[in-house]
Amino acid sequence: MKADLFRLLPSVEQLLQEPVGVSLVESFGRPLCLEAVRSALDAARQAIRAGRDMPFTNSELYSEAQAQLATRTAATMRPVINATGVIIHTNLGRAPLSEAALMALSTVGQGYSTLEYELGPGKRGSRSVHARDLLAQITGAEAATVVNNNAAAVLLTLTALASGCEVVISRGQLVEIGGGFRIPEVMGQSGARLVEVGTTNRTHLWDYQQAITPNTRAIMVAHHSNFAMVGFTAEPDLAELAALARDHGLLLLHDLGSGSLLDTAAFGLRHEPTVQESLAAGVDLACFSGDKLLGGPQAGLIVGRADAVEKVARHPLARAVRPDKLCLAALSATLLHYLKDEAVREIPIWRMIAKPAADLKRVAHRWARHLTRNGLAATVTDGHSAVGGGSLPGTVLPTWLVVITHPHPAGLSAGMRAAPVPVIGRIDNDCLVLDPRTVMPGEERALLCAVLQAADRS
Ligand SMILES: *Cc1c(COP(=O)(O)O)cnc(C)c1O
Repeated sequence: MKADLFRLLPSVEQLLQEPVGVSLVESFGRPLCLEAVRSALDAARQAIRAGRDMPFTNSELYSEAQAQLATRTAATMRPVINATGVIIHTNLGRAPLSEAALMALSTVGQGYSTLEYELGPGKRGSRSVHARDLLAQITGAEAATVVNNNAAAVLLTLTALASGCEVVISRGQLVEIGGGFRIPEVMGQSGARLVEVGTTNRTHLWDYQQAITPNTRAIMVAHHSNFAMVGFTAEPDLAELAALARDHGLLLLHDLGSGSLLDTAAFGLRHEPTVQESLAAGVDLACFSGDKLLGGPQAGLIVGRADAVEKVARHPLARAVRPDKLCLAALSATLLHYLKDEAVREIPIWRMIAKPAADLKRVAHRWARHLTRNGLAATVTDGHSAVGGGSLPGTVLPTWLVVITHPHPAGLSAGMRAAPVPVIGRIDNDCLVLDPRTVMPGEERALLCAVLQAADRS
């Protein structure tokens, strides 16, 4: 009886030659299908041994093989809907790109380009020209260069300019940024010797002054990034440090972190130091991220004095941290938005920051109505969105939230994450909360479907 069940199973080749098998091979290729069909047959034999007494149909075997093929070929990086209200969400890919940036990287990615080619003379050129002039124009810097990310920019700058020398930095700025990036450790990697001055909460100009020796090469200022200093605190301002550096023939280096090109105070946020202000204060080199408040692709942007930028760009380590053509294409397109004074209209993160509360309220009510009509307990309340990405810690944007009361908020939330386009919300006070601020145009239907289906199942 059992022996019959085993004998009734088709062979691997039989399964692959039937129309379903042929179409699977067309979609996934023969080697993967061979493995999937073999393992479906193995699973069937296992089931028979474990006591199954019904013969297997081919369609059962194909479903098992298909499920395996789907798992084996699923993308690990999938698009999600961000309903957390955190605009620059590092875990969810930081800044979404503008239409023009997407177009630029798709055009350049599709074929060949002038990445390192000069059309006039018809000979080899340099990739360093891309984005460089735009960056200099927008920030007012003498020169600029681009690397793979801001962590690389900090490492490269210190390596090229201060290796083997002392770099003075305030104890209040020895911060750890997400992903284990610690300013003191990166400085150590560069071969520069870190000289810590001041205290955690207060550092004065004379602290820096007293630390300067004949072996000092630079003063470094790092943005506090993801934490805020409040209370009894003091730090000299950049212009004072720039004067001190000049007097002693030192470089003043500034890691701006997020590095905004626009004044965040114009959007009801606390003022985030801009790149332009840093340079105007007399910083020699400033560096910042491409995918935080700039709203572009991952990149590290280095701007400042021509001789210092040149030294950084020519260092051998620069080759190891250079940006690729897709990054340069998307970055140039993003920078062009600033030059054309259309950043707030075209760059998604600025559109999100600038979204009027009244619009968000209208959207939140529309969602709550739809969810309530379909049997969920959803209300609208005022709340806060965050900028994120280590910029503007502790400052928030007023927003309107949809609050869903559900017996199993964690189950509901897990169900939303299991949707075809996963929806990421947040749980506050045992309720599931959705912030429309970070939901992109065109995602509303998929979001509401995901919530309702998850609620049905949990
Ligand atoms: C985010 C950040 C970095 C690292 O930038 P990446 O582009 O993520 O490499 C470095 N310094 C500061 C102050 C930051 O906020």
